[in-house]
Amino acid sequence: LAMAHRAGATLRDLEFVQFHPTALHLAGVPAFLISESMRGEGARLINQEGERFMVGRHPDGDLAPRDVVARAIYNEMARHGGQPVFLDCRHLGAELLPKRFPTIFQACQGYGIDMRSQPIPVAPAAHFMMGGVVTDLDGATDLPGLYACGEVACTGVHGANRLASNSLLEGLVFGERAARAILASEVAFPTLRNAGFYEPPAPILEIDYAGRQRQARTIMWEFAGIHRTADGLIAADAALAKLELPHERYPADRLVAETGNAIMVSRLICQAALARTASLGSHHRDDAVTEQP
Ligand SMILES: Cc1cc2nc3c(=O)[nH]c(=O)nc-3n(C[C@H](O)[C@H](O)[C@H](O)COP(=O)(O)OP(=O)(O)OC[C@H]3O[C@@H](n4cnc5c(N)ncnc54)[C@H](O)[C@@H]3O)c2cc1C
Repeated sequence: LAMAHRAGATLRDLEFVQFHPTALHLAGVPAFLISESMRGEGARLINQEGERFMVGRHPDGDLAPRDVVARAIYNEMARHGGQPVFLDCRHLGAELLPKRFPTIFQACQGYGIDMRSQPIPVAPAAHFMMGGVVTDLDGATDLPGLYACGEVACTGVHGANRLASNSLLEGLVFGERAARAILASEVAFPTLRNAGFYEPPAPILEIDYAGRQRQARTIMWEFAGIHRTADGLIAADAALAKLELPHERYPADRLVAETGNAIMVSRLICQAALARTASLGSHHRDDAVTEQP
């Protein structure tokens, strides 16, 4: 996204970031995804008091849309000082769980959680970007010769809130369409010989790149995540601006490039979220001032 933006391609719908409601929440452990299929099978969300907090909150209860469940979990966690909620599947039976969910079962076992006898601690996690580089249905962007497909692209097929599993299909469908369009295209693509390489500068030793990336992540989670307000988004954008890297051109260093790009895209998300004053799909404004998106 950052590269396309720098090159002048149009980006759209960056405010639509989907949060998956149930990632494993254990200190020092990666936020491993606990699939919706577990709730489909009958697993229940419970809070610290063991209450089924989704019951009565939405007609579909535990199977409400991702943004609804993610927000409810976030709110429960806020009520309990940041403590996670739990996915309770003990009633599904000790035999079924390892057979029906072998990967999740083994991952949880590896982290010391036996889902047959213990509820799984879960919390929402950033999951999917509906927005991206604007393309037509053949992957062409408004920059001649630049094609995009998959999660980085924005065709509009996911609207403001992707349905589960549509992303892999998107990759297949638009990947093929883009490949065909590129083959048929008459745009002259640069060869490596005339691509215009430059001597990369060195990273700046005084900059804690990883630290800036962590700070950007914290800012985004706090102010541009599941709950958003104008004040929070303005503050987040200003704080991110202070983290921006001074490099005119990036050193040949992955951490530097990823940090710079993440900060740039984070700012674009904040600005897009600020501009959309109503809540829509995955984008939730606590201070929504208009009915219409
Ligand atoms: C935990 C999890 C579970 C998911 N489960 C599902 C699911 O069940 N069904 C579903 O439909 N979707 C699912 N999704 C979403 C789906 O996986 C992604 O949307 C999809 O994989 C995106 O594919 P992509 O090829 O567009 O991008 P990516 O898979 O992100 O591929 C982009 C590639 O580009 C490489 N790259 C990035 N920058 C550069 C660079 N500068 N130079 C060279 N290479 C670069 C990256 O390393 C990466 O390999 C899930 C997502 C997550 C996070």
